[in-house]
Amino acid sequence: MKLINLAKIAREEAYAPYSKVKVGAALLTKEGSIYTGCNIENLRYGELICAERNAIYTAMANKQREFTEIAIVANYRGELKPCRICRSAIAELCPEIKIKTLNLKDNKMLELSLKELYNNKISYEVRSILRIILRKIFK
Ligand SMILES: [Zn+2]
Repeated sequence: MKLINLAKIAREEAYAPYSKVKVGAALLTKEGSIYTGCNIENLRYGELICAERNAIYTAMANKQREFTEIAIVANYRGELKPCRICRSAIAELCPEIKIKTLNLKDNKMLELSLKELYNNKISYEVRSILRIILRKIFK
């Protein structure tokens, strides 16, 4: 099944009573297995997990470390892109990943890279350099 369809199925498990924005994600690993995630909200604002991070963390908890593609599906007002926290997680854990999003509100599909998520080229480059330095320090 296509990754985007698996993200749609994962979306059905979303817990989003506050925003009503249900999100599903399906993550493809380098070796070909797939992990899914959905968003889970909490009354305490900020104490939520996004679908894409849920999928990445679930995969990592299952010993996966290399990811090639992630599909994200939601009914979102506006452009559907990973949030700032997810962007940081992707930068940290899978900076080369291909990101595909499908917004069910307008059926718009986007294909993004991490670089494109950073609309400011300097912040992307600073983040890349920082990541290399920190990896060397903490190895
Ligand atoms: Zn997020």
